[in-house]
Amino acid sequence: MSLSQNIISAIRSVVGSNRVVLHEPSFQGNEWLYIKECLDTTFVSSVGQFVDRFETYLAEYTGAAYAVSVVNGTAALHIALLLAGVQQGDEVLIPALTFVATANAVSYCGASPHFVDSNEHDMGIDPVKLRQYLAVSTERCGGKCVNKTTGKVIRALVPMHTFGHPADLDGLLKIARDFNLALVEDAAESLGSYYHGRHTGTLGLFGTLSFNGNKIITTGGGGAILTNDPELARKARHLTTTAKISHAWEYRHDEIAYNYRMPNINAALGCAQLEQLTSFLDSKRALFEAYNDAFSKIDGVRLFAEPTGCRSNYWLQTLIIDEPYESQREVILKTTHDTGIMTRPAWVLMNELVPYLNCPAMDLSFAKSLSARVINIPSSPNIKA
Ligand SMILES: *Cc1c(COP(=O)(O)O)cnc(C)c1O
Repeated sequence: MSLSQNIISAIRSVVGSNRVVLHEPSFQGNEWLYIKECLDTTFVSSVGQFVDRFETYLAEYTGAAYAVSVVNGTAALHIALLLAGVQQGDEVLIPALTFVATANAVSYCGASPHFVDSNEHDMGIDPVKLRQYLAVSTERCGGKCVNKTTGKVIRALVPMHTFGHPADLDGLLKIARDFNLALVEDAAESLGSYYHGRHTGTLGLFGTLSFNGNKIITTGGGGAILTNDPELARKARHLTTTAKISHAWEYRHDEIAYNYRMPNINAALGCAQLEQLTSFLDSKRALFEAYNDAFSKIDGVRLFAEPTGCRSNYWLQTLIIDEPYESQREVILKTTHDTGIMTRPAWVLMNELVPYLNCPAMDLSFAKSLSARVINIPSSPNIKA
């Protein structure tokens, strides 16, 4: 049998013979009840008890001191980067292998993304390679890290926890310290994932989450900013609520800010979803075990397992095709789709997208190789493995 036929039978042995999507949300809890409460009380918009409850739950769950909920994960990143000090004309180090939101949030600040390579242990930024690169390509000027080629200040480093697998935060936090960079974690995909016992998104200055429809829990659209710093949390709240000075009737705003707060009706959905997060995580882990059994018998491809010392949420199950079989990726994507199994390649690398063609980048050979060999396979929490 061909590699693609082997892959199809392995997936079928786990998910059964029906059509199966890549990832769909599951609403088996209090979703209807909480949303009805919003409608009955008329609190559907950006004020309401579900917003407060959702933020409290999120902070408790992740161990962050503060959680500020916003309209989506991109907005969360935008605000986190602004508060991390990213300014017009700066550069921000982000993986080339990420969803476009990471790069766009940098652009919204008037800064340029500076693309860095990933590694094979966790599919996140490679700290060894990054340190070597920064050592030769940057210099210290008045405490700031300056790109010798562009003369621009590199202000921040944004690791992303790919498909829920934690990046090497120890190595990256050390780089942030040594090169004076703010570390902001794009934890959009990693709610429920832990790096050496600590929840992703809580180790840097900020962490950001996404609750889009395809993420591990959803609020329809939504996101959150996590931080342990009370002053930064206060600023994040202020900047996402049009910088309105709290007052019973007066509308006074003390800077140009954003209307980014999460509406109560979305937070209601989020509260119901968070109550089920543990069961989603259990079914995703069970699905990983089942796929792992099925794929261990197949040559040419492996199922990505959580990095050592980490606990992943297994948000999207990931196959990595061995290099000699790389050219078969298109056939695999096509044959799986033809038989009703939704699969997906990794994102086109950011440095290959039209708006980002001219941005600074280090050698991206591993990200390039990985992006050509990744295939995500059906991962919904309602697949009973
Ligand atoms: C989903 C996601 C985001 C944020 O997306 P939104 O759709 O704006 O909530 C950011 N970064 C990564 C890596 C993501 O996967």
